Amino acid sequence: MFVSDNLNVNAQGNLTIGGIDCTELAAQYGTPLYVMDEDLLRQNCRRYYSALNDYCDGNGLVLYASKSFCCKAMCRIAAEEHFGLDVVSEGELYTALSAGFSAERIVFHGNNKKFSELTFAVNSNIGAVVVDNLAELKTLNAIAEKADKVVGIMLRIKPGVDAHTHDFIMTGQIDSKFGFALETGEAFEAIKAALSYRNLDLKSLHCHIGSQIFEVDPYEYASAIMLGLMKKVKDELGFAIPGLNLGGGFGIKYTQNNTPVDYEKHIECVAKAVKNECAKLGLAVPKLYFEPGRSISGPAGITLYTVGAVKEIPGIRTYVSIDGGMTDNPRYALYGAQYEVCSVKNAAAPRSNTITLAGKCCESGDLIGKDMQLQPVEPGDLVAVFATGAYNYSMSSNYNRIPRPPVVMVSGGQSRVVVKGETLEDIIRNDLD
Ligand SMILES: *Cc1c(COP(=O)(O)O)cnc(C)c1O
Repeated sequence: MFVSDNLNVNAQGNLTIGGIDCTELAAQYGTPLYVMDEDLLRQNCRRYYSALNDYCDGNGLVLYASKSFCCKAMCRIAAEEHFGLDVVSEGELYTALSAGFSAERIVFHGNNKKFSELTFAVNSNIGAVVVDNLAELKTLNAIAEKADKVVGIMLRIKPGVDAHTHDFIMTGQIDSKFGFALETGEAFEAIKAALSYRNLDLKSLHCHIGSQIFEVDPYEYASAIMLGLMKKVKDELGFAIPGLNLGGGFGIKYTQNNTPVDYEKHIECVAKAVKNECAKLGLAVPKLYFEPGRSISGPAGITLYTVGAVKEIPGIRTYVSIDGGMTDNPRYALYGAQYEVCSVKNAAAPRSNTITLAGKCCESGDLIGKDMQLQPVEPGDLVAVFATGAYNYSMSSNYNRIPRPPVVMVSGGQSRVVVKGETLEDIIRNDLD
């Protein structure tokens, strides 16, 4: 009935998350409200962690892509679940370090890291900087030299595999702002340069082939291409690159039409493909890294809203407006993302009406979804949008000076606020007279 197993219906007919009645959460914390199921977050982490142990003989590390949902509580959970962390800005790095995340398990991504960010990363002794371009390689080495340190790096490579939701193309996908192109020889030159810098330690190659991917084969192809490059480096430069980071992008169930691959199956297939290819090439099996974001945080979250205006335009469509919108979930407005919605008080009833779920911002494009199926609702009713744990809170804004909602975590039948909701005072905090 629901896209995630942690959602259920209780005896009163109300929607529950992690066993807690959503009407109670809304009464206690108000709406809009982000609710994250900590038990499911941890379960998702454990599935990756044990799969990597099983299929990579312990020689692997899962890095949680914190951009999908980042706050101190989430960083602590990732740390407790033996994860590393992928950050893409000094803000995410600062959050992780403030949460006590151990720096050596953090990798820093980005196609245009600021000098201050690289310096912060070096001074914090993070595990690796994922270097994106030659200028950054040079700058990073200079910062490391000045600090008298050897800094771990990974090199971001464009393997020429571009995976979309249900297919992938093997073109020369060099039109991307991220990383070094493989087929032009740029990647090989970057590796050569990296090995010549005395204050950099090349730990791994990296690629990230897309997001919301439902197939294993693009990862297998990408890994074979990357291993081919590692073989060339070993033969021609005499250096065995010790790691291979295959990025994230594992798909989740936003709607019943989505059919994700089990994480365990995914890791198993890719690890086996890597081992086979290594045997063929005569390479030692590298340490494998994965960087799931959405598949950890996405299914664990829902957003609760209160219905306001309901506008039926005969023969056209019915707009159901809620007390949030693109400020707390910009994903439909950004790229037409699909979600499911449900009435909280009749959660098991058929979703018999076709409606368009609209936000409260002054933008016609401020929708959570068009032509969604929902039970009949009236002003004042609560609705829940599912699978909003990733790229919602982390992409939220104060457009129209709307305060961000709080984030509540539920675990073992208890709830607690992990990110306070913003107040009107917060809205004017940085304004000067
Ligand atoms: C966004 C991103 C991820 C996480 O992607 P998901 O689709 O959330 O799993 C991992 N690695 C890199 C480099 C990314 O840019």
